Amino acid sequence: MRTVVAGNWKMNETAGQASELVAAFAPRVGEVLAGANGGIDVVVAPPFTALAAVAPALARTGRVALGAQNMHWDLSGAFTGEISAPMLLDLGVTYVILGHSERRQYFGETDEAVNRKVKTALAQGLHPIVAVGETLGEREDGRTRDRVVTQTRAALDGLNEDEIARLILAYEPIWAIGTGKNCDAAEADGVMAGIRACHGALRDVPILYGGSVKPDNFAAYLAQPNVDGGLIGGASLDANAFVELVRLAAAAASG
Ligand code: PEP
Repeated sequence: MRTVVAGNWKMNETAGQASELVAAFAPRVGEVLAGANGGIDVVVAPPFTALAAVAPALARTGRVALGAQNMHWDLSGAFTGEISAPMLLDLGVTYVILGHSERRQYFGETDEAVNRKVKTALAQGLHPIVAVGETLGEREDGRTRDRVVTQTRAALDGLNEDEIARLILAYEPIWAIGTGKNCDAAEADGVMAGIRACHGALRDVPILYGGSVKPDNFAAYLAQPNVDGGLIGGASLDANAFVELVRLAAAAASG
């Protein structure tokens, strides 16, 4: 199983700031990856407006892929303010985060919309990183597994096994995102085992944990059998922290 470290920069960094951030971590991440003997993929997802600025520096590492944080399901047309898969591909984007809880919560993204986007991304040759997760209320009601399995099955609806094999999933308990409140690693692993078990084709699909991952807690998640890496928000905006997260993942992948 590949180990994946994906940084989600959210609505942070102008193009100039993004270039500075990449300059601060990309050569160091490149060195870590050159010395790693396990299969590890590193992705960073800046805002759309910074994709073009950071693409050349990331490409020079030969090892850090460019991701986007969202895209529309249609390829072009009257969708004011939206960005299409061909626009992303044109900038060198190879991964796209879909169904992040902030998209679902603040922009009304439904399971059906996420599924349409996943299908388009796959058809266009992008690797979707599909995020699922429960709210605090759902967790307290004992509905975590039901919620994430429903979201996962909806995202995969209509996909064949080969298409599913090109996906990455991310389990992100919403109450743990950006809050500093960690989900216990064993508890997260149990939920992620449930996600993996909900469809036979997920056997070899990396499932990432996301939610206040930091250098001091990442190793505990990586040690879990169903955790294949991290989707990282806040800590991916700190060059030193991001390098350390990649180093931890590379050690886990090699070990
Ligand atoms: C995220 O943006 O998906 C995320 C998990 O954020 P953070 O690491 O800041 O909790």
